[in-house]
Amino acid sequence: MAKKNIDHCSFCGRSANDVNVLITGIDGFICDTCAEQAHEIILENLEQQRKASGKFGFEGKELPTPLEIKEFLDQYVIGQDDAKRYLSVAVYNHYKRLTQSPSKEDIEIEKSNIMIVGPTGTGKTLLARTIARYLHVPFTIVDATVLTEAGYVGEDIESLLTRLLQVADYDVAAAEKGIVFIDEIDKIARKGDNPSITRDVSGEGVQQGLLKLLEGSVVNVPPQGGRKHPDQKMIPVNTKNILFICGGAFEGIEKRIAQRLNTRVVGYAAAKNTAEVDRNNLMQYVSPQDLKSFGMIPEIIGRLPILTYLNPLDRDALRRILTEPKNSIIKQYQKLFEMDGVALSFDDAALDYIVDKAVEFKLGARGLRSIAECIMMDAMYEVPSQKITELHITKEYAETKLSRSNLGRLQAL
Ligand code: ADP
Repeated sequence: MAKKNIDHCSFCGRSANDVNVLITGIDGFICDTCAEQAHEIILENLEQQRKASGKFGFEGKELPTPLEIKEFLDQYVIGQDDAKRYLSVAVYNHYKRLTQSPSKEDIEIEKSNIMIVGPTGTGKTLLARTIARYLHVPFTIVDATVLTEAGYVGEDIESLLTRLLQVADYDVAAAEKGIVFIDEIDKIARKGDNPSITRDVSGEGVQQGLLKLLEGSVVNVPPQGGRKHPDQKMIPVNTKNILFICGGAFEGIEKRIAQRLNTRVVGYAAAKNTAEVDRNNLMQYVSPQDLKSFGMIPEIIGRLPILTYLNPLDRDALRRILTEPKNSIIKQYQKLFEMDGVALSFDDAALDYIVDKAVEFKLGARGLRSIAECIMMDAMYEVPSQKITELHITKEYAETKLSRSNLGRLQAL
């Protein structure tokens, strides 16, 4: 490419004056338009390779072992070891099933959908999102609350798969090997305390519909989601190989677990010495029976053979959540300040104080961020225009800032 005093893109020949950005290489230049085009070509190429290989994901790379998957989860999610192990194994087996080459002698490996039961704010969605980050299959999180029974306002069951199709770029074969996390599954439980005598079967219709997806069948998915529309061309998707992970808080299920265990939820302190049952965390004893008495139909429970639970987060877990995960709240603030050339540090007492307040206001892990945000707000506002290189947050500083902020609003959360 002829060059005088002005640099030119080595691909399209346009001069630096005619482009937005001209990137310099060792022996040439590339402009923003050509770089974008190159990026698209690469994506297309990779996509073709992927389609040709018929696999989404680990071509050429080793399948991660359950241990490796769990280690990855450990970097972002504190505690919840049981759930992590179950999820790691389920995802690993899912991959193995996908890479299984069909032959006559092969034993067909069936998928094992998962049910995670745990109080709100203890990491169900975080686990799902973290797994998604690691996965090389289409993955999506959907909310069961958008579903209602046919005839009422809401979305059709099939629309749960719309997002999956979208993340798979409408590559049906890839979507058919994907993973769907259905959040708030408890919201479609049959209402009424005693399902055997109640005539109120709301929720049951939605569960029946969901059963169809979990069982593995060909369903017609509206490509744009929402309710079925006569003009919308449906895409048939076979759910046989889609792994479903369901999560729900199942509020009040402890009472049913306790009844089953023939214990009482009250009187923790008195009971501590006498029973081997850990009454502070009854969720760990959850069984399919409890889900049934909560209002899930037996067929659905049968299609979610792996049942695991999340622990409530105690003080110690909250303290760890503040600083330990790879993208912990504190690390995020430090990163933000670092970008302004400011080294941000916290006293241990200040961190303990944040945790104390989260416990006091019963805000759980979600509250940690709101409290930290109140404490850091003034600094985030002022520091970028100040010439400082260090900021140390003490407990006193945290106390002052929090007392001046809209504490009342936090308490009301
Ligand atoms: P839910 O169980 O209601 O789906 P989430 O996963 O959305 O709860 O948790 C809410 C927030 O709390 C997360 O974004 C995360 O910041 C924090 N959190 C909850 N549990 C954990 C955990 N075990 N480890 C690390 N962070 C957690």
